[in-house]
Amino acid sequence: MLFGVAVLAGLAPQLPAQRTAPALAHLARPLAAAKPSAGTLLPVVTTLPEPLAASSPGPVPPGNPPVKAEPPDCSRLKCVALTMDDGPVPGTANVLDLLRRKGVHATFFVVGQLARRHPALLRRMVAEGHVVGNHSWNHPEFFGKKARTIRGQLAHTDAAVRRAIGRDPVLMRPPFGEVTPKVREACRRLGEAVVLWDVDPLDWKDRKASTIAHRVVKQAKRGSIILTHDSLKTTRAAYSDIIDGLRARGFTLVTVPELFGGHLKAGRVYLRG
Ligand code: ZN
Repeated sequence: MLFGVAVLAGLAPQLPAQRTAPALAHLARPLAAAKPSAGTLLPVVTTLPEPLAASSPGPVPPGNPPVKAEPPDCSRLKCVALTMDDGPVPGTANVLDLLRRKGVHATFFVVGQLARRHPALLRRMVAEGHVVGNHSWNHPEFFGKKARTIRGQLAHTDAAVRRAIGRDPVLMRPPFGEVTPKVREACRRLGEAVVLWDVDPLDWKDRKASTIAHRVVKQAKRGSIILTHDSLKTTRAAYSDIIDGLRARGFTLVTVPELFGGHLKAGRVYLRG
C-alpha cells in the first residue's frame, strides 16, 4: 500500500472544506428522495424492529464468492474506490449487471431496513465480488444521538446483513458523514472501520447523469473514495460513464478494503487511501 491510511485521531473527521454543516444538512436528501411519494420505494420506518433472530444465513449461491487470482496492488496501481450508498433498491440489480459487464468491484453501504427487504441483492453483491458495508438502519442523523441509539442502528443493520450473507460488515459509513466519538466507539466495539469519502459529485442535488459522471472523473485522485448513491436513478445512469471515464484516466477501480491493502482498523476514520 503506497498511501498512508487516513487515520484521524481527533474526535471528529476533518471533512473536506466544502462539507460544512449546512452542506451536511442537505445531504439528508438522498434517502428522503426514496420515499414512496418520490415514486422510488420504502416507507420510512422510524422504529427499530425486534432484534433479528440469530437464524442461519440465507443460502449463498454455490461456488461463490469467486476466488480472485490476485488482489489489485494499490501500491503500484492508481486505485480509486467507488462506493454506493442508501440502497439496496430494485434498481441496484441494474447496477450489479453493469458492474459485472465492466468487471468492476464496488463497495455498497446499505441501509438496514432495505437490506432486510432485499437480501437476495446483498447475496448477489457478495457473490460477484463486491463489499457490503453498514449505513445505519434507517438513515438518521447521528449528531447528538445517544450511544445506545447509535449502537442499535448499527447492530440491527449488522444483523440484517448477517442474515443475508452470513457475515457481518467490517465497514460503516454514517448517514451524512456524521462522525462523533460515540459513533467511533460503537464501530470499534462492532469491529467496523468508519469510511467517509474525498470525492462527492453532489448527485443528490444535481440529478443529471452527465454532470455527475463529469464531476467524479474530474475530481478523482489516486486513492480517492468516491461517494455516490445507487438509490438515485440519475446516478445509476451515470455509472457507465463514471467507470469508463475513470479507466480512461488510468484508474483501477477497487473495493474499500482493497484500497487499503486489507489494513483497516475498527473505529478509525478513513477519508481516502
Ligand atoms: Zn446515505
